[in-house]
Amino acid sequence: MKRIYLASPHMSEGKFEEAFVQEAFDTNWVAPLGKNVDEFETEVSHLLGGRPCVALSSGTAAMHLALKNLGIQEGDYVFCQSLTFSASANPIVYEKAIPVFIDSEKETWNMDPVALREAFKTYTPKAVIVVHLYGITAKIDEIRTICAEYQVPLIEDAAESLGTIYQNQWTGTFGQQAILSFNGNKIITTSGGGMLVTSQEEQASFSRFLATQARDQAPHYQHSHIGYNYRMSNICAGIGRGQLQVLEERIEQKRHIHQRYLEGFGDIGDISLLSERLGERSNYWLSAIQITSKNVRPSMLMEALAKENIESRPVWKPMHLQPVFEDAPYFGGEVAADLFENGLCLPSDTKMTDEDIDKVIGIIRSFWE
Ligand SMILES: *Cc1c(COP(=O)(O)O)cnc(C)c1O
Repeated sequence: MKRIYLASPHMSEGKFEEAFVQEAFDTNWVAPLGKNVDEFETEVSHLLGGRPCVALSSGTAAMHLALKNLGIQEGDYVFCQSLTFSASANPIVYEKAIPVFIDSEKETWNMDPVALREAFKTYTPKAVIVVHLYGITAKIDEIRTICAEYQVPLIEDAAESLGTIYQNQWTGTFGQQAILSFNGNKIITTSGGGMLVTSQEEQASFSRFLATQARDQAPHYQHSHIGYNYRMSNICAGIGRGQLQVLEERIEQKRHIHQRYLEGFGDIGDISLLSERLGERSNYWLSAIQITSKNVRPSMLMEALAKENIESRPVWKPMHLQPVFEDAPYFGGEVAADLFENGLCLPSDTKMTDEDIDKVIGIIRSFWE
């Protein structure tokens, strides 16, 4: 039985990735710098309105450097969306700062501006981290307004939302800084990698400095900062350049999958699909549902799909419910917890055929028939 994946790497039919990687081999730029790295940064920057971009080894490294750029230190507070992957929050703790988690709202599943306002009444953070989960833009206008009011820099975790456009603006360009991920399961991949997107050239150059072991200008090796080995390799960047050429195609495919699910579950009142708002073009990285039925639970669907060799996944478990963050302050109610409890991410692999999608729909529908 053929396996149907949640989201797997999907190289271009034209083998564009291989051509760029071959070029790196031919020129012996098998290193964490080189033409592919420079060009990949330029090409992503071009998509993101010319914002300076720094190619890195992971999205997590990008988040870490975004915090370093803001001088986050021990004891500082950083507000962070609770419903997310742990990589959004872990770098806060790398710097011994204190995460303060914020609940989600039901429409976008992302940071609730009301809970954010509440948090500002108690804490003065050094940064706010908002996430565009599953390719859906957070309530970015409201969140930006609150951050501007308190003059606190906003960092967007756009790891899942490359290509999502809200009111003619790409996610990753709303905050002072943003991070992207090119992990194997993301909409485009470099096998593993990330990108820091900034609005200031100084931040980009400081990040490049820190990402290459913080070498001072000197004939010998001299260091006045603690650095990291966070740069993206020229081989990975070659894969990324090839993948960029099919980004729009992949978004179209993801949107087609979402549309088919929408039609497939339209008449089942117990299922609601997370969908874009008016004025938004989501990349629909993963199609995710909420199940309101008391009798049918997400775990039952997961199990039934697994029996047919189909991969699905629970919604992220909120950070404020994670054992490792049990002491962290939290603002909000039960929305993120409920989304976790009642949610399921459906297979959204761009290699799926319509028959594959219909098979998934059929298995899920059988619980209501
Ligand atoms: C994938 C992901 C990251 C981290 O990216 P890596 O490249 O895997 O380090 C961060 N935040 C979110 C929401 C993600 O989904």
